[in-house]
Amino acid sequence: MHADMDAFYASVEQREDPALRGQPIAVGGSGPRGVVTAASYEARQYGVRSAMPSIEAKRRCPPLIFVRGNMALYKRESEKIFTIFQDFSPSVERVSLDEAFIDLTGTSRLLGSPSTIGQRLRERIRDELSLPVSVGIAPVKMVAKIASGSAKPDGLLEISAQNVKTFLSPLPVGRIWGVGPVAQARLADLGFHLIGDLIEADDASLEGALGDWGLEIARLARGEDFREVEPYRDAVSYSEEHTFASDISDRLALEPFIREHAESVARRLRRSGVRARTVVLKWKSARRTGPGARGYPVFTRRLTLPKPTDDGKTIAQTAIRLLKENGPQGAIRLLGVGCTGLCHDAEDQLGLFDSQETERRSILNKTVDQITQRFGKAAIGELPTQQREQVGLSTQVKRGDD
Ligand SMILES: [Mg+2]
Repeated sequence: MHADMDAFYASVEQREDPALRGQPIAVGGSGPRGVVTAASYEARQYGVRSAMPSIEAKRRCPPLIFVRGNMALYKRESEKIFTIFQDFSPSVERVSLDEAFIDLTGTSRLLGSPSTIGQRLRERIRDELSLPVSVGIAPVKMVAKIASGSAKPDGLLEISAQNVKTFLSPLPVGRIWGVGPVAQARLADLGFHLIGDLIEADDASLEGALGDWGLEIARLARGEDFREVEPYRDAVSYSEEHTFASDISDRLALEPFIREHAESVARRLRRSGVRARTVVLKWKSARRTGPGARGYPVFTRRLTLPKPTDDGKTIAQTAIRLLKENGPQGAIRLLGVGCTGLCHDAEDQLGLFDSQETERRSILNKTVDQITQRFGKAAIGELPTQQREQVGLSTQVKRGDD
């Protein structure tokens, strides 16, 4: 089963504020560089999509209402959603804050047929959280995910093993996992437009034209997806970044942003019970070198620490060192701080408190965590509150194969 909240951030905002219900809303910045993070279904009717520049969204939908967004609230809702997911199966694979695969293998004797379980899950999320969720059920993951997409908004679609080919055949090849716009164009050149075209093609000619990759997507096209639900897939890195309202060339002015991101990343490391060995500083140059949103070159610098850390100050100091020694030459439009090389706390138990300073920081961090848990992220920090809220929105947890 694949469960995916409908327009998650926008739905939470509409639940919180009755004045937004039934209205076209977008979560994201409304400024000249703002981007739509999520759009309500009312806004989607006008062609507003997530990742669209806010200016374009406003052009397509003049009555569009922008909401700044509240990542702390979305995360709290996400935790409640996953608690409910886990009531239906011990095997839940988190894909993002609002989306998961839930393995129903072996649960039917206890909980009923898959569609009964899917319907119950939808009802519980509706009753307890007043949020819409769509559910897809299928013998394999890829088909379940496509089915939940087809069930949207607020629906359930079950595809039985016998119906997989009939369901997939009329869909464009771009719906197959791993087939992006470039691959889709390449397949179109070869005459493969629909998934059905791939199903009918013979393996030898696919292999001749596309190599191993051709065989792989033909298998997926036939609904043969051997990936299991992986409940314990760990994050491989934590990072946070944001785009400035206007470009910044003064390096000193970047330091408070680095400290802010570092503290936020560190809090997430601590919450997950992991430490990081490597600190990454990332920026996007303000000097365009190509067309489109990807036309700004991205740079990263990384440094591996002698010992893994979950301390924001250590992460910030390392990132600031990277900034000073090998940082941007000119103005930048985006800045980010990340951590990779994660290890679990237990691996570092020995020598954890090897100095008074480390011990002091650890106690301080615990206190900070308690305060931010109670009063929100904006309670502590050196940036003015408004800037601090902007910093929070682009939070991401990167996973192995996302
Ligand atoms: Mg969703």
